[in-house]
Amino acid sequence: MRAVDVAVIGGGVIGAACARAAALRGLTVGIFEPGPDPAAASPASAGLLAAQIEPLDNGLVALAVRSRDQYQRLAAELRDTTGIDIGFWAGGIAAIALDDEEADHLKDAVARQRQAGLRCDWLAAADVHERWPGAAPDCRGALFAPEDGTVDPQALTRACLADARRLGAALIAERVEEVDRDGGRATGVITAAGATAAEHVVVAAGAWSGELRGLPRPLPVEPVRGQMAAVPWPGGPPAILYHDHGYVLARGGAALLGSTMERAGFDSRVTNEGLAQIFRGAVRLLPRLETQPVVRMWAGLRPGTPDGRPILGPDPDVERLWYATGHGRNGVLLASLTGEITGDLLARGETDVDIAALEVQRFQS
Ligand SMILES: Cc1cc2nc3c(=O)[nH]c(=O)nc-3n(C[C@H](O)[C@H](O)[C@H](O)COP(=O)(O)OP(=O)(O)OC[C@H]3O[C@@H](n4cnc5c(N)ncnc54)[C@H](O)[C@@H]3O)c2cc1C
Repeated sequence: MRAVDVAVIGGGVIGAACARAAALRGLTVGIFEPGPDPAAASPASAGLLAAQIEPLDNGLVALAVRSRDQYQRLAAELRDTTGIDIGFWAGGIAAIALDDEEADHLKDAVARQRQAGLRCDWLAAADVHERWPGAAPDCRGALFAPEDGTVDPQALTRACLADARRLGAALIAERVEEVDRDGGRATGVITAAGATAAEHVVVAAGAWSGELRGLPRPLPVEPVRGQMAAVPWPGGPPAILYHDHGYVLARGGAALLGSTMERAGFDSRVTNEGLAQIFRGAVRLLPRLETQPVVRMWAGLRPGTPDGRPILGPDPDVERLWYATGHGRNGVLLASLTGEITGDLLARGETDVDIAALEVQRFQS
């Protein structure tokens, strides 16, 4: 029988970050990933590091900022060890106000963030138009988070997997059917090819995490579809402009336009309605996009939870079973810190990050 210290179920950005962190701490790792599911979230993601822009609850903002702030170092490390450029860009994100009510709301958010010690600016409409000519003619100003930015999620996943493999991890192209348990302890995973013994099992199977057999409890992780489209960048300085869950992001000569939040089960098709919503929102942010040809459109399934927070940490009843799933809209942003937390839990049994609000038992009725 194969044996590893850690079996990671899923090789998306979260499984990859956890596997790398475990391998860096000297553990032998098997990453079970049958080949990214066509509906997987990580390859579909925009890769925004929008810690100060996304409507996160207060506890999560602190973790998101902490994770975002690790990316500069992580990008350099991964470039050194794997030669892969993860496309880290920290030129800031602007959340645009399109009416006076939104402007008041965003001005309050600027004040709150500054009070919390974060860098955050209010840009008047004239400043917005000077920085990004042609952006949102009816703009009433913007919250600008100068340290937010983006990474290329596909490159990040690839680089974390490559680094984990460099450190001895094995990528096993098999779908896990069941988590193996011996009473109150996880003992490995079972695939169609047989069993693998493991000291620790990490559930990182994205939207499919709740489908695994052998888990001691139902996992409230549900697919939330996000549709995206790409058009050529219409010129002007690169920018990330955001409004009401919709955004326009410059990457590699393209404008990535996102995204929808839909409960459509495991259906990851793009729809007329979804694309129409994205295009309407994007054109309000950058009207020059209106005449751009559509180059590509796609969709992926985010692993959503009822309260929008990830599920992270130990199972309370089954020893050595760990969760790293349910990252919803912000899994790329949170991948770096998730890896660090999970790596420390696996290697030392503890983490210096307070994860009480993320633990699975919060869903126990
Ligand atoms: C359109 C869109 C835009 C997004 N934009 C952003 C953004 O700008 N910023 C941000 O931070 N986040 C964003 N997200 C969210 C982010 O992409 C996700 O939170 C993150 O990718 C989740 O990663 P994951 O590894 O948990 O899941 P996934 O990437 O879905 O990976 C799960 C993996 O598990 C594998 N798997 C499933 N079942 C099994 C099994 N039984 N055995 C073995 N392997 C299995 C699948 O093949 C898959 O590869 C976006 C998501 C979408 C869809």
